[in-house]
Amino acid sequence: MVVDVYMQSTVGWGQVGLNPQLLRVVQQLGYSSPTAVQAETIPAILAGRDVIGSARTGSGKTAAFLLPILQNLLSRPPYPGTHVLVLSPTRELAVQTESMLQGLARGTRVRGFVVYGGVSLQAQRRALRGRIEIIVATPGRLLDHIRRGTIDLRDLDVLVLDEADRMLDMGFLPDVKQIISILPKRRQTLLFSATIPREVERLAREIMHDPVRFSVGRQDQPPETIRHTVYQVPDHLKSKLLTELIRHPEMKSVLVFTRTKWRADKLADELGQVGLKVGLIHGGKTQSMREAALAGFRAGRQRILVATDVAARGLDIQGITHIVNYDVPDTSTSYIHRVGRTARVEEAGEAISLVGPREAKDLKNIENDLGYSFSRERLSGFNYMERGAPRPEFRQRDQRPREFRPQGERPRGFGPRDAGGSRDFKPREGYRPREFKQSEGERNDDNRDRGPEPQRSGPSGDHRAYRPRQGKHRADWRLQGSRRGKY
Ligand code: ADP
Ligand code: MG
Repeated sequence: MVVDVYMQSTVGWGQVGLNPQLLRVVQQLGYSSPTAVQAETIPAILAGRDVIGSARTGSGKTAAFLLPILQNLLSRPPYPGTHVLVLSPTRELAVQTESMLQGLARGTRVRGFVVYGGVSLQAQRRALRGRIEIIVATPGRLLDHIRRGTIDLRDLDVLVLDEADRMLDMGFLPDVKQIISILPKRRQTLLFSATIPREVERLAREIMHDPVRFSVGRQDQPPETIRHTVYQVPDHLKSKLLTELIRHPEMKSVLVFTRTKWRADKLADELGQVGLKVGLIHGGKTQSMREAALAGFRAGRQRILVATDVAARGLDIQGITHIVNYDVPDTSTSYIHRVGRTARVEEAGEAISLVGPREAKDLKNIENDLGYSFSRERLSGFNYMERGAPRPEFRQRDQRPREFRPQGERPRGFGPRDAGGSRDFKPREGYRPREFKQSEGERNDDNRDRGPEPQRSGPSGDHRAYRPRQGKHRADWRLQGSRRGKY
């Protein structure tokens, strides 16, 4: 069953079936009326149905599942065990969901706890000895606890996959499948995300029992209150252009996404050097650094946060005015989630994409998927033609110890390019060295940090599987593995 509803709900809180205690809580939080996704899904969840809910970023999906879950727990006599599990793709999102739970469950007997990696396992084990009805977790650390016997999910009644399409994609699927395999078969399963593609829905239905699907608004779209703009700029000028743009007083709170951790580090450095206060968050940072950066940004101590896609999903940060795609994301799904960090609950927001010559195609694909094109802008007075620094030459060092080097010979590899190699070599008659044409963007080739593109096409046969050469590209193997490592 699929139900289509509009973004705005016409229903008041009185009509969704919440008990007086929870009604008081939502009043206190200042939620004047339920959002559309809440108005639709709360009654279905209260009735015990499995639900697939897709609604735009920032439309209140968290409360849409937490409120009825709480009410169902409170409406029956207490019995021991963990009854609800909420799975989240990132640690920060798990923490955020649990803190929302604390707010909603205040004054009730229901206890929640958040379990995520990068922090002490011992402290979590100790806390888990108490009575905890709701666990919010990231899959990896949850499995750790399950294996050690510190979390027991035999009495589970409700499983929630928040950011469901992400939880069921290749990076997480093995862990999530393993977790689901130990859960009771008789349970309520709830899936929420702003983007739920058909394949994911098909997969999801295998772990659900006759789910009802609510899709609120047009599928797979960012909020309409976002203005999208594009600046076409050579790659080596991106950080300079961004520094100029950020000077604008309108850019009060800016979340900048880069493609890789390495580029995030580099950009944060560059912005720091011109005196801007920047927070940095990516998978290569310690958890305490990640938390400090996020807290600083939330509190407004830094008005700029540079992040990889680790911050693209679910985070609800008040007052972000601008999202910057320092690098164009590779899918429209990723674009929707990134820009969805602004324009929460019908507010306005702006999404700026800096597009290098080689990203034009990715951008086109995103525009095609969303069905409209973004407005092209140029910053007046900015020199788009400025040349980049020449690429440093990487040469082989002469491995021979000094005493074995013929007198007077310069170490190989430090002279002009053809100084290396055999001294007896004479090119054949008429030989002209091949010329390589390099465009501006390519000379400043910083795609290097990305490693080879993973093969995206299916088994069509026209691409041979990429096989890195042994030894020479050893670092590439790291990038080949799970996508999670990349962020
Ligand atoms: P989503 O998961 O859909 O992206 P969230 O659950 O993170 O959205 O909620 C976004 C914001 O909306 C949160 O700050 C939340 O407090 C707020 N919110 C939730 N429900 C309501 C409501 N009914 N009215 C006003 N604000 C709400
Ligand atoms: Mg959410």
